[in-house]
Amino acid sequence: MNDGVYVSASSLRLLQDCPRAWSYRYLKGHAAEDVGLGLVLGKACHAALALFYERLRDGLPAATLDEMVAVAVASIDEAGRSSTPIARDDDDETDLAAEAERMLRAFILSHPFQPKRVLGVELPFFLDAGQVARHPITGEQFAFEEGISGVLDLVIEDENGIAVIDHKICKTRPALSGGIDLQLAIYALAAEELFRSDKPVRLFHHLLVRTKTPRIELREVPRSPHDVAEALEAVASGVELIHVAVGHPRPGRLLGRHRSWRCSGCGYRRRCAGDRT
Ligand code: SF4
Repeated sequence: MNDGVYVSASSLRLLQDCPRAWSYRYLKGHAAEDVGLGLVLGKACHAALALFYERLRDGLPAATLDEMVAVAVASIDEAGRSSTPIARDDDDETDLAAEAERMLRAFILSHPFQPKRVLGVELPFFLDAGQVARHPITGEQFAFEEGISGVLDLVIEDENGIAVIDHKICKTRPALSGGIDLQLAIYALAAEELFRSDKPVRLFHHLLVRTKTPRIELREVPRSPHDVAEALEAVASGVELIHVAVGHPRPGRLLGRHRSWRCSGCGYRRRCAGDRT
């Protein structure tokens, strides 16, 4: 059964983080009230990093800081022209272009990660959900027709095989104590499907941490069989929940609020506050 609901790695991640936010965005199609400044900055830096690694992939002269900043500023300008306002937070830098330049300068000065072989930059993928959505213990395969789509920031190959690199522009280093997240697990499965590697695909965070002195770090994210099983289970339950919610007369009863630190930056916080479902 295909209910026409978009299933992507990031949408499944949102469903896991807060089912109510997922329903606003993907089930009801509500536009966000605003977009967080960090998201705009992250998108801008991703675009600049894509330029850097595309040049490397194509054997062209390295992108300069000025070229990378120009790409980032164009992305920020585009966000500024969008009908969705950028949320300003007292704690945040307000000059986004200056902050993008600060982080990209730190990246260039850090002797950036330059793999010998770049296989993909901003590489889209489409996974057959029926292949990945199976119970990790019983092996039961779910009869879903949806695919799961997504985009891999960077895929490289070295003497240890294939690795997926996920760029993260963040204020603090994300903790790894809870195992790998759903999105990264899907990325690894997608890379295994795309490149048919005989070795397990490795996962890395490429961190650009917005501390007073920016910190640039490539950090491997360990992936144990238990992590993979848990992530697959989350995919299976997420897709199952989507199916049930789509046909439910009151989907809000299934897609509850999950209050967390994310609420203050949630693009649906006002709608959520007034929602009595
Ligand atoms: S404000 Fe919080 S609980 Fe409400 S939708 Fe957003 S993330 Fe979920």
